[in-house]
Amino acid sequence: MRLILASNNPHKEIEFVRLLGASGVEIAGAETVGGMPPVDETGTTFRENARLKAEALRPRLGAEDFALADDSGLEVDALGGAPGVRSARFAGPHASDADNVAKLLQALEGVPVPRREARFVCVLCVVGRGGEARYFAGTCEGRILGTAAGAEGFGYDPVFQPAGYEGSFASLGKTVKDRLSHRARAAKALRAAALSGFAADGGTS
Ligand code: IMP
Repeated sequence: MRLILASNNPHKEIEFVRLLGASGVEIAGAETVGGMPPVDETGTTFRENARLKAEALRPRLGAEDFALADDSGLEVDALGGAPGVRSARFAGPHASDADNVAKLLQALEGVPVPRREARFVCVLCVVGRGGEARYFAGTCEGRILGTAAGAEGFGYDPVFQPAGYEGSFASLGKTVKDRLSHRARAAKALRAAALSGFAADGGTS
């Protein structure tokens, strides 16, 4: 059994290799099956968009392969849950991580620290060639800092401070992020199910 990452995001790939690579679950990039086809993320939930990405890769899977798709993002309470599923495109269709972070900090200008609560959300969708989907989710609670700090990670990592820590994910580094991130938590649930061949998990649809 192989998990093929249904993603073009090199940062997510690096994290999945760290999170799953040493666990006995074989993972490979989409390039091993001809690349990741373009996907219109038209879903209104992380779950729907994760399914769209997994389905896009499904026709390219071998008999022993599963597509693994990640849809994730940041929910900020003071912004009514935004940017949410639009996290990658918050500052526009071709926004860079820096553009998105700048827009977020601007949107939260004047919002006091206790009201800057936020969480990262990750939903993983695993689909085999037969089409049955399994879902695994993880969240990580925290706060949005007043200014960006740190050089590791990607996306909103420089402005997200996980609960119980001082400093952003980008400054705390990968050892801390891999222990408590939304993706780490979802990957942990997936790993257990994958190692049993997805036999005993109840998260199908
Ligand atoms: P997706 O590729 O459509 O799932 O968009 C995910 C977006 O959410 C990324 O482009 C980031 O802006 C944000 N995001 C998701 N996970 C993380 C993370 O672990 N750190 C920082 N930002 C993240």
